[in-house]
Amino acid sequence: NDHVRLQFQLTLYGNGEHLMLVRDVTRVYQLEQMRKDFVANVSHELRTPLTVITGYLETLLDNVETVNPRWRRPLQQMQQQGSRMQNLLNDLLLLARLEAAPYPADSRPVAVDLLLLSIRTDAQALSADRHRISLEADPTVKLKGSESELRSAFSNLVFNAVKYSPEGGEIRIRWWADESGGHLAVQDSGIGIEAKHIPRLTERFYRVDASRSINTGGTGLGLAIVKHVLIHHSGRLKIDSTVGKGSTFTCHFPLAQVVRS
Ligand code: ADP
Repeated sequence: NDHVRLQFQLTLYGNGEHLMLVRDVTRVYQLEQMRKDFVANVSHELRTPLTVITGYLETLLDNVETVNPRWRRPLQQMQQQGSRMQNLLNDLLLLARLEAAPYPADSRPVAVDLLLLSIRTDAQALSADRHRISLEADPTVKLKGSESELRSAFSNLVFNAVKYSPEGGEIRIRWWADESGGHLAVQDSGIGIEAKHIPRLTERFYRVDASRSINTGGTGLGLAIVKHVLIHHSGRLKIDSTVGKGSTFTCHFPLAQVVRS
């Protein structure tokens, strides 16, 4: 952190002249670092008091017959909002941890097929069986990296497919490898995304339709988490979408990350 950070920009002109610009970005970098530390610290400090509040609410609701009927509904709402805030803090802390580390927490071959099987079970519960979720995953292809980070990324993609698809929607999850690397595709038949939004989707808190997203219970950080997990695993995210037809989110990983058995 005590290092001086310089940014170089070299421009070559047709006539053989060239121009080199050197910028001192130390201060910019330090401020960015302070912002990240601040968010991580605040999230951490808010977690304990929130756990106490939601804990008491839960106890009250567990003994709902002792509660004045007029207070039942407000208490339920307080609990729901408390749990939304907990999800938000957890996502903020996860994002801060991902940003702070240049590499994944682990580098072991992960059985992506089993990981996806368990994510599908969770997604089925989220969907309350209102969507058909299919899974085709090659069990002989593993991915080097951190299982917990990959779980966060892949489950965000699969849960989004559920959240942004109407009842009866079809969701297809595929994992395979070829000569260009490993690929994970999550395809939905949901609401789709207009092309102009796609480049900004992985920004924190960027939402196409804020009111709709609030109803789906998202934190607005899901795709930012996906982006950072992919950076750790040398992966790229590709988003294809047609409004009213559906979207496909594909993660591409280089061959160096793939282990075949
Ligand atoms: P959120 O918690 O709001 O879902 P995300 O970062 O996961 O946050 O996604 C950002 C935004 O991208 C969402 O608010 C939604 O507008 C859009 N989005 C993400 N996945 C899909 C999808 N499968 N279909 C349509 N829109 C999507």
